Amino acid sequence: MNEHLMKHSNNQEDFVYMATHELKSPVAILKAYVQMMSLKMNKAGQTEYLFITEKMDSQLDKLLNIISDLQDVTQIRSGSMNYHFSEFNVNDSLRNCAEAIAASNPEIEIEFSLCSPDPVIKGDVDRIEQVLTNFINNGLKYSRQHKFLKFSSVVEDGYLKVSIADKGMGIPTEKQPDVFKRFFRVGSPEQHKLPGLGLGLFICKEIIDAHLGEIGVESEVDEGSEFWFKLLL
Ligand code: ADP
Repeated sequence: MNEHLMKHSNNQEDFVYMATHELKSPVAILKAYVQMMSLKMNKAGQTEYLFITEKMDSQLDKLLNIISDLQDVTQIRSGSMNYHFSEFNVNDSLRNCAEAIAASNPEIEIEFSLCSPDPVIKGDVDRIEQVLTNFINNGLKYSRQHKFLKFSSVVEDGYLKVSIADKGMGIPTEKQPDVFKRFFRVGSPEQHKLPGLGLGLFICKEIIDAHLGEIGVESEVDEGSEFWFKLLL
């Protein structure tokens, strides 16, 4: 990279960092007001228009996720992503994530295949749950009518393998190695209609790399995908 490009790129990253930093608090405050409005409407028995505040709340969540992804990417690029390592139970993380998704999407079919006894690993629990949430949200976003998720953990060769499988659109074999690259999207006409920046899996790979683990996907078009990561036990 020549100096001019490097300067330009640094300026862009500084700009994105500052813009996302400034955007985050008004959006978070807006979300708090929307939640307050829902509560007040509920209390007053004005439930007819509650679906509007629910939709606003879920759109604000999406906006906050985009802001977080942009913040993560600028931190990754400047090498300033922080991790807080501690021992934690990955099966509990899988159960918590499944519970959260089932509470907001009761129509989803959920299956578990968890190793026993519960495995304890050393890692950043929030960041690992961020990876799981990303796999889960993609599993739902890139599914058609049938929303199905399988949460698995298995111990093999001193590693813990954790995966989330769906029965969605799948990914063509030749595109699978690219899905962890920054800004990459498969871009089939069907997928093109769905929103996204192509940053989530790039961030997941960075997080798993920082844990000295491995990340991957197995997938078949029209059958589904299984995203996984392996961490040393
Ligand atoms: P985004 O979803 O914002 O585009 P991601 O980095 O999370 O970005 O994913 C990159 C691409 O990988 C997606 O655009 C999509 O094409 C593909 N992909 C990810 N997860 C799945 C999945 N479960 N099923 C099918 N395709 C997927």
